[in-house]
Amino acid sequence: MRLLHHQLIGLNTLIIMEIIKEKELKLPEEIKVDEVLNLLGRKQKKNRKEFKKYLIAPDLVRDIYVEMPSGIPDLYDFKGHNFSALQHFIVPKNNGFRGYNWDEDESLGIREEIGDIIMSIFSINVKYDPTVEEYGFKPEIMKKSPMNELINKRKKEIDLDDFTFPTAAEVGGYYGDKVAKNKKFSIITRVKAAGFALHFVMDACCAHHVLGYLLKGHTDWEKNLELNWQSIFGNLKDQKRINEKLEEIANKVIEYFNEKPELSKATSVKEVIEKNAKFIQNWLNEDSNKELALKGIITRKQTKKICIRAIASCIVALSIMFK
Ligand SMILES: [Zn+2]
Repeated sequence: MRLLHHQLIGLNTLIIMEIIKEKELKLPEEIKVDEVLNLLGRKQKKNRKEFKKYLIAPDLVRDIYVEMPSGIPDLYDFKGHNFSALQHFIVPKNNGFRGYNWDEDESLGIREEIGDIIMSIFSINVKYDPTVEEYGFKPEIMKKSPMNELINKRKKEIDLDDFTFPTAAEVGGYYGDKVAKNKKFSIITRVKAAGFALHFVMDACCAHHVLGYLLKGHTDWEKNLELNWQSIFGNLKDQKRINEKLEEIANKVIEYFNEKPELSKATSVKEVIEKNAKFIQNWLNEDSNKELALKGIITRKQTKKICIRAIASCIVALSIMFK
């Protein structure tokens, strides 16, 4: 089924923002929701009855739809571009972060033959075409993207095993801070860039993106996260119960802001993404979270924790972009 309105975390986030506003729940003073809701949230009430159908957890595999001001949905993805999904990683390292690097992906090591197959599929040089229209952005916006700048700087052919991709924070930060936030761009461009940026905010909430691993339970972990999140709502029959559940999430998000005041203090989308990567890194170090993640396992309780974080950080990012 093709969905016509906000989908995925974009939808989750906007619905929660609307409830926070309606119920006059107290957000940290840095966060401003009015402008975002005026721009993006107008149809949420109507959509809420459909919520269950397209409720989704953070998951990089999916695209993000953000309803355009005109009501036409748009799709943000890197489809059809070599290695573009490899820009969705952010690995905390020393005091900084690095992007995806084939050589450092330890999930490939023990299954080298699979790595070789992937390598042979990807046996083309890393390249990037800034003129593509699929993104829906003007070529000048694409030309300045971190991936393109990185490739231009190298000025020679780049092999996959000799290349570190830009981090999710650099890429998401570019679309969020340099495009969505910039009032010189049309509102349509800004909304598109915001949807794009949120994708990276969510990706930094996924275990394997912070580990830098393509395999080792990557797909299963994300699938299980999504199934768990959906199952929280899966048996709700009427709108009243769904509304109660949404209100509960809204309250949890507010609680979360109080627990982690540094999240709402972020002043750029890039910073939000980096904070998420650090959060997931710490989470992986707790208990046996990493061991389980490498088997593709995530519990319902952990799912809630991560999804609340994802929604809270998307609210912060939207507030930064449209303040
Ligand atoms: Zn992933």
